[in-house]
Amino acid sequence: MIPANLQAVQARIAQACARAGRQPDSVRLLAVSKTFGAEAVQQAWQAGQRAFGENYVQEGVEKVLLLRELGCLGIEWHCIGPLQSNKTRPVAEHFDWVHTVDRLKVAQRLSEQRPEGLAPLQVCVQINVDGGPTKSGVAPAQALELALAVASLPRLRLRGLMCIPEPAPDFATACEVFGRARALFDSLRAQGLELDTLSMGMSDDLEAAVASGSTLVRAGSAVFGARTYPARA
Ligand SMILES: *Cc1c(COP(=O)(O)O)cnc(C)c1O
Repeated sequence: MIPANLQAVQARIAQACARAGRQPDSVRLLAVSKTFGAEAVQQAWQAGQRAFGENYVQEGVEKVLLLRELGCLGIEWHCIGPLQSNKTRPVAEHFDWVHTVDRLKVAQRLSEQRPEGLAPLQVCVQINVDGGPTKSGVAPAQALELALAVASLPRLRLRGLMCIPEPAPDFATACEVFGRARALFDSLRAQGLELDTLSMGMSDDLEAAVASGSTLVRAGSAVFGARTYPARA
């Protein structure tokens, strides 16, 4: 089932790229494996998927170690959950990417804690494009200042922007909101920042995100099925 789901999501991405006149390899798929076990990730890996996203630090680190034990090599692990500054160390030590940098303090700690033996941590600045109630993400007006500061940190490599807008009622509205992230991305690039990643779009709105310039869509349920959340203390 997971291999077929991966194919179906890749086909949706390819079709959205074709409609937008984009190359199909201009959009990468991040398989969001939160709440799913190591076996599910292993199945996706066997089907060729290499980039996985996790939201919860402890769950993610456990899976990083388990998949290594299972011999699934070459995985790129992306932290896509909200990050408190007292939880940065395991992320700096075990993940390859962090999408949710929205404060300088978090970025500074990630940079200080990134082990010397590893490649720089690849990061995106999360922006709050729609003023949504989740409150995660920097306001668009503050994005340039934060991006410049993050780009100057020695053990981080700033790759781009990420956003999680509220679900939109229709395609046009979704495109309008994603379009704001795209405009901000373009303006930061025009100011000289070398960015190549615009992380936006999930299982339900990836077509609108691709139409609006996303380079990395984060799909969970479309790949692994419906999630059941365990009660969290
Ligand atoms: C859970 C999650 C996703 C995946 O959501 P689906 O609707 O299952 O595709 C993508 N991005 C973030 C930040 C998430 O927390």
